Amino acid sequence: MDLFEAVQGFFDRAADRLKLDDSARKVLSTPRREVAVQVRVPMDDGSLEIFPGWRVQYNGARGPFKGGLRFHPNASLDEFRCFAALMTWKTSLLDVPFGGGKGGVKVDQKRLSLGELERLSRAFFWAIEHEVGPYRDVPAPDVNTGPREMAWMYDEYSKIHGDSPAVITGKPVHLGGSLGRGSATGRGALFALDRIAHQRGWTRSKIRIAVEGYGNAGSWFAILARELGYEIVAVSDSKGAIYNPEGLAPHAVLEHKRDTGSVVGFKRADSIDGPDIFGIDCEVLVPAALEEALHAGNSDKVKANLVLEVANYPVTPEADEAMTARGITMIPDILSSAGGVVVSYLEWAQNIQRERWTEDRVNARLKELMEAATDDTLNRANSNAITPRAAAYEIAIERVAEAGHARGWF
Ligand code: GLU
Repeated sequence: MDLFEAVQGFFDRAADRLKLDDSARKVLSTPRREVAVQVRVPMDDGSLEIFPGWRVQYNGARGPFKGGLRFHPNASLDEFRCFAALMTWKTSLLDVPFGGGKGGVKVDQKRLSLGELERLSRAFFWAIEHEVGPYRDVPAPDVNTGPREMAWMYDEYSKIHGDSPAVITGKPVHLGGSLGRGSATGRGALFALDRIAHQRGWTRSKIRIAVEGYGNAGSWFAILARELGYEIVAVSDSKGAIYNPEGLAPHAVLEHKRDTGSVVGFKRADSIDGPDIFGIDCEVLVPAALEEALHAGNSDKVKANLVLEVANYPVTPEADEAMTARGITMIPDILSSAGGVVVSYLEWAQNIQRERWTEDRVNARLKELMEAATDDTLNRANSNAITPRAAAYEIAIERVAEAGHARGWF
């Protein structure tokens, strides 16, 4: 099954429960626009390379399309379609005034020099320059992209349109970026978890957490969760995992990763195989890396009683069903991975007003929006006796359907 088809299952079931009419269903289950581009990069050795790039604009009923750009050797139109749909439900569930989009380039960016990476970023944005804009489509960072790439892209767009910081979010703080954007995805996930922990009467120090993926979202989540008193017992990256049942010092682990390129080999922990992170004895498992990390072949290993999805689409529908049947609470990506786009919205709002907020103000607003969406989701799940994922999809789809209906689309 392709990725888009897999997440459409979540949409279809919610649409059935909502008794969405046929026209609304047709509009909401297909992407509005998909653009495929040629990304031309003059290489350092004098040759020319062409990389395929895409931008998918899934639905813009609630505002400009919004979503990240990733550089990855496995990138494909199918995956961007899947993530653009997820972004549509994510912005809606968090009630930020955007639609959903996603895009990027199929490239092994680790093999590019810094100059080649800059030329690739600029060439890609130049190729989609007609499709994006502060009130059209506002990209952001995603896997293997960050403030540096956003700055190049913003600069490229501004050469044509004049200074336009609101065309892209996740920029460097000294170039129109928002304070708090870097930590936003991890912090947002923690606000969601902490809300749930509070409602369930959990004591933070008794909650042991394992984090799969130690990139931006995973490492910030681990550092902030530890600060709040949770125990981080295991973390992993693409090279392996480390485990200490007594708890890890996430900040020191990040420094170790910066020095050596991996969390593996961290002194005060045992190094274990990467995939073993999923079977760690813990209360909360946090997949924070790539899609389909938990699938039918490994989800039976999970010992946690709550899975907090910080990556996009980290759990396949089969694994979701199997873990739900075992009584594991699944907190869906469209809720727990939404912190990044929430602060992207705050960055965009600051940019269009030429305003600058303090980090405290940004974090306070992020907390408000994350907690409201968490409460909405859990209340609906409880009152309708459905899973949090089913509830999150219902709320998100209902809002997009209402906006589309009000616009006269169906
Ligand atoms: N790439 C992030 C996500 O998947 C952030 C998107 C954004 O800030 O627009 O949610």
